[in-house]
Amino acid sequence: MKKYHIFKRPDRNIKVNVEEKILPSNSSNLLESQIPKYIVIHEVSLGTGKSPVEYNMEHYYKKIYDAGQSGSTIGYHYLVGDKSIYHFIPDNIATTHTGTDFGNHNSIGVERLICKGINYEYAIHNQAKLIATLMLKHNIPLKNVITHKEMQLRYGSVERRSNPKQCPGRLIAGFRGTLNDFRTEIKRCFIYGWFFNELLDEKTINKIPDVMALAQRKYREEINMKKQSIMKNINKDDIER
Ligand SMILES: [Zn+2]
Repeated sequence: MKKYHIFKRPDRNIKVNVEEKILPSNSSNLLESQIPKYIVIHEVSLGTGKSPVEYNMEHYYKKIYDAGQSGSTIGYHYLVGDKSIYHFIPDNIATTHTGTDFGNHNSIGVERLICKGINYEYAIHNQAKLIATLMLKHNIPLKNVITHKEMQLRYGSVERRSNPKQCPGRLIAGFRGTLNDFRTEIKRCFIYGWFFNELLDEKTINKIPDVMALAQRKYREEINMKKQSIMKNINKDDIER
């Protein structure tokens, strides 16, 4: 069995951009202002078989737009597909996306599209790259990048904690890559400098070489630590023999 999974990335000449589709300021799903400290990983919850090809980026754009015009407070900040990313709600505005009061007022919700025909792995890569960009932009550590489920387990009501939403379902289930693989993909974005620069100011963009060097150093340290622990175990085996 494979111990880890590296997600496939879109071809270099396919340019994926973050498109600003900010909802009108009178939308009911734009709540009060917030300083984001967490990033919440979501996935559109219908199964692939239940999500027809027309449940695409535009479908969900219309849905969140209509929600905002109909008095609903439900929303999320970004929707990530395999070919594009839509930005609906400014990062510093709260919205209802976690089923917890704390999560709804302290985090950015990053939803990933699932529909028939989507390239699952490209969408996963784009989601990791967007999250890496938001971590850099808002100075959010990887430990504060958590799933919708984890947010409910930590900050939900007793009722929520006993039956948390299984979101993002496919990553939790380990369908073509686990949550751990997803976190590794975020780390890879830092190592290789994969960010959506259109979301960053010049000062932050200029910091990217230093950020990459730090991530590469951390990665080498992790590898060395693993090697050392393997060597230790080998020595132990020798002694015990
Ligand atoms: Zn969710």
